[in-house]
Amino acid sequence: MEQEKSCLFCKIVNGEVPSEKVFETSKVYAFKDIYPQAVEHYLFIHKEHTKNINSMAAQKPEHLEDIFKAIKEFTQQTYLETSGFRVVTNVNKNAGQTVFHTHFHVLGGEQLKGFGV
Ligand code: AMP
Ligand code: ZN
Repeated sequence: MEQEKSCLFCKIVNGEVPSEKVFETSKVYAFKDIYPQAVEHYLFIHKEHTKNINSMAAQKPEHLEDIFKAIKEFTQQTYLETSGFRVVTNVNKNAGQTVFHTHFHVLGGEQLKGFGV
């Protein structure tokens, strides 16, 4: 798996930085967000480094399938599919991307605000 030495989420995949795992496959890792924005807030990442969703779609489109299948499995194994969840990914400055390893926020566990809700 290609990784970036200085990337925080590559370090989480390697176990160099601790995290609270909630789901894992051979390709995908998911863990609790350290500053949760909802009662349940998880980050789904591919074990191989890309920097954002557009890079992933251009360079490793198969990673999108890996990630969304993992989200499907996880939300079906938990009550999140039934109660509802949201998937968010930020790209660059205006979206507030702070970690440049593609990640998908999975939010739920309560009524989520915004986006017309
Ligand atoms: P973004 O702003 O979309 O780049 O999201 C980065 C997310 O990573 C934020 O929601 C942070 O709270 C989260 N985060 C940063 N460092 C850690 C960490 N060590 N463990 C878990 N989540 C983290
Ligand atoms: Zn990385």
